[in-house]
Amino acid sequence: MSVHVIGAGLAGLAAACTLTERGRHVVLSESAPAAGGRARSYHDKSLGCRIDNGNHLLLSGNRAAMDFLARIGAQHSLTGPARPIFPFINLADGAPWCLRLNHGRIPWWIAVPSRRVPGTRLGDYRALLRLRLAGADARVAPLLGACGPLYRNLLEPLAIAALNTMPEVAAAQPLQQVVAQSIGRGGFAAIPRFASIGLSESFIDPALAWLQAHGAEIRLGHRVAEISDHQPTVLAVPPWAAAELVPGLVVPNQFESICNLHFKHTLPPGEAGFWGLIGGMAEWVFARPEIISVTISAANRYAEIPAEDIAIRVWAELARAFGLGAMPAHRVVWERRATLLATPEQLARRPQTRTANPNLVLAGDWTDTGLPATIEGAIRSGNKAALALAKS
Ligand SMILES: Cc1cc2nc3c(=O)[nH]c(=O)nc-3n(C[C@H](O)[C@H](O)[C@H](O)COP(=O)(O)OP(=O)(O)OC[C@H]3O[C@@H](n4cnc5c(N)ncnc54)[C@H](O)[C@@H]3O)c2cc1C
Repeated sequence: MSVHVIGAGLAGLAAACTLTERGRHVVLSESAPAAGGRARSYHDKSLGCRIDNGNHLLLSGNRAAMDFLARIGAQHSLTGPARPIFPFINLADGAPWCLRLNHGRIPWWIAVPSRRVPGTRLGDYRALLRLRLAGADARVAPLLGACGPLYRNLLEPLAIAALNTMPEVAAAQPLQQVVAQSIGRGGFAAIPRFASIGLSESFIDPALAWLQAHGAEIRLGHRVAEISDHQPTVLAVPPWAAAELVPGLVVPNQFESICNLHFKHTLPPGEAGFWGLIGGMAEWVFARPEIISVTISAANRYAEIPAEDIAIRVWAELARAFGLGAMPAHRVVWERRATLLATPEQLARRPQTRTANPNLVLAGDWTDTGLPATIEGAIRSGNKAALALAKS
């Protein structure tokens, strides 16, 4: 009997690949005309080039994501620095600095003043131990906020980017998971990676081609309106869509947005290809071919500001940081429900993979992965759902 996978975001694509690999015939349905969900590329008419809906940063330690790329033959489609470095610019004084981790497990970089966060002392890094002991109710800012420049210049921007939630309310446990699975394993697991051409070229198009070559049936533009109790199904749609299809299912119901700004301008990529900006509205800047792309996470706080005003403010910050001239053509892309709001209360609403119906399993970055809502979490959830269905 065929297995139905509903939703062709990364969770659905991962589930479809795992099931196909295990010899199952997969029918993959996607309501949108193109696959990819919240991680996709498209041609922007006004900019005259292809852009991603948002910058997506991975780390070399994202094992499931790296395995997925290897399986679909796209392991060489990511780019980024060769070393675990994170360059920053402080907008207050324009001062650039770079966090430079060492490759191995023992973090000796903390002992070298020129490699660590400016203004921090060796003892400040003990704060990371507090993160290890965080309970399910612990929140990031109350736990770590007192550790001065280390928090302001590194932990806060890291938490906002990883959790897409303001640290005052964000749960600490998923941040601990990110740290444990990247920096905690050594710098070799924390090398920044991002799509060299686009998200679709790395993750989506090769996955669709792999599935097609292995006999899966792909139905784009096909919205599934009900689920059969008897058909083996992986439901890999966003939480609000899952709640409509599965009456009584408890799912996260509060979300955070991400605002991405794409400016038609070329910026020399430097060693990393991106920078973190401290002290402004712009948080991460990516030097893409022909485009400067800026990410603002946890962007609900700016929801009342008109998009054009955000563009003007962000460009002023870029002009200051990189010495740029007049604002070029640009596009502001708001993803209103980019991820779940990562508070302890919302995380408690994440469902397990299995449901009361043995034929129905759930996948998606919003299920109980223990990780923040990320590509790594989505792919892991898809693999896990496929294996659960294969077993039952
Ligand atoms: C702007 C932005 C920036 C991000 N940055 C990062 C980052 O830097 N690093 C990182 O790791 N992650 C990042 N993420 C998160 C990452 O994109 C998501 O975690 C991941 O793409 C979620 O995949 P998913 O398959 O769980 O869900 P989705 O991508 O939402 O896929 C669900 C799919 O189901 C389809 N669907 C819905 N209803 C139906 C139906 N009834 N029938 C058929 N199909 C249906 C939808 O159209 C969609 O394609 C970012 C997200 C956004 C929006």
